[in-house]
Amino acid sequence: MFDKILIANRGEIALRVIRACKEMGIKSVAVHSVADADAMHVRMADESVCIGPNPSSQSYLSIPAIVSACEITGAQAIHPGYGFLSENAAFVQVLEDHGITFIGPSAEHIRIMGDKITAKDTAKRLGIPVVPGSDGGVADTPAAKKVAAEIGYPVIIKATAGGGGRGMKVARSEEELEVAFRTARSEAKAAFGNDEVYIEKYLQKPRHIEIQVFGDGKGHAVHLGERDCSLQRRHQKVFEEAPGPVIDAETRARIGQICADAVAQINYIGAGTIEFLYEDGEFYFIEMNTRLQVEHPVTEAIFDVDLVREQIRVAAGLPMELRQQDLKVRGHAIEVRINAEKVPEFAPRPGKVTQFHAPGGLGVRMDSALYDGYTIPSYYDSLIGKLIVHGRDRSEALARLKRALSELIVDGQGVETTVPLFHALLAETDIQKGDYSIHWLEKWLAAHYG
Ligand code: ADP
Repeated sequence: MFDKILIANRGEIALRVIRACKEMGIKSVAVHSVADADAMHVRMADESVCIGPNPSSQSYLSIPAIVSACEITGAQAIHPGYGFLSENAAFVQVLEDHGITFIGPSAEHIRIMGDKITAKDTAKRLGIPVVPGSDGGVADTPAAKKVAAEIGYPVIIKATAGGGGRGMKVARSEEELEVAFRTARSEAKAAFGNDEVYIEKYLQKPRHIEIQVFGDGKGHAVHLGERDCSLQRRHQKVFEEAPGPVIDAETRARIGQICADAVAQINYIGAGTIEFLYEDGEFYFIEMNTRLQVEHPVTEAIFDVDLVREQIRVAAGLPMELRQQDLKVRGHAIEVRINAEKVPEFAPRPGKVTQFHAPGGLGVRMDSALYDGYTIPSYYDSLIGKLIVHGRDRSEALARLKRALSELIVDGQGVETTVPLFHALLAETDIQKGDYSIHWLEKWLAAHYG
């Protein structure tokens, strides 16, 4: 086992990894930007290294700075968390060259699930069902029209290099296609420096269902069921639950097995998530995330596992402790993402936190790097905490969420959070019944706040 792990991340996910390290008797090294010198992950780790100025391009994304921090502190492995360098194949390659273990899949596996066209090809090859669409990139408007006529309108034009919900445009007719195609390309160019786009059938009222998989790197893999992450704003998840309200045990076992078999075939190592749109009983692959997800705690709750501990174990060459026959769904879990944003505009509201009180009690987990007196910097994303509740069934989880939200206090100078959104959502019958698609939240926001 490793003696020392460096965590190439910040905020709640850095704490999450440090906590697992402590429980496993492994020393932890935090890295931080100047603005994060007083951050909780720096305080909680055994050692810390300042790796650069505030912009993440010069700190949390700086490969030379992170590798140097590893060498200075003698850390043998790096956990990347999510975001930042977690899905950067070049980074993993550099670590391989330096003899530092990356706690995650190989550079090769990140590459084959990297850009969206390559990922879709890989998925098809591994027997995963995909959304009907173009065979790879689409060069010009005539080609786009041809594909769209074949698969039928509406279609969605997506950036090959896309991510974070950006660079997607829907066209409902041939007239709309021309403008949508051009806009998608120029947006893709601006956002990702790559204007290649592809086309898919636009599903009308799907749910976002993702399957958690875990591989031992030696041809064995398990699945840990699904998470329903359909409640999204601008393609960004805000509320996630497991199990999915519309997925039964048989469906879970079927799609779960397809996903586990797919990653086992390539000797995938560690945690991965295969994301699908789900409509009329069919699953359609959209992408695979080759890392730990923000919403992993709901899976941990219902299967009573520690995914980070398991990631560290297999990265160290130890056998995977997860066994499919032991993985039985236990109750229901929900996570809400607490962002430092003002509702309903969702404008960032970072600042100094004067009072932070985390909810507690039975079935409540709060993953947050906040503390009294902490100043939320404006340089990074606005996620300041995740509240996760677990109950014997969905209605208990909902009641517990309401109770826990009422205990949470985040007061500060200019600080606002998305907590009011969740209070309002919990009062909605559709949410209480689990009756929502990926469009529900946008429609609700438009109806409530215009
Ligand atoms: P990103 O990596 O940018 O998040 P994804 O491919 O994962 O992009 O898609 C993000 C979201 O966009 C999905 O969860 C869904 O809400 C919507 N979306 C993507 N593809 C389609 C599609 N073919 N039909 C309908 N909605 C889609």
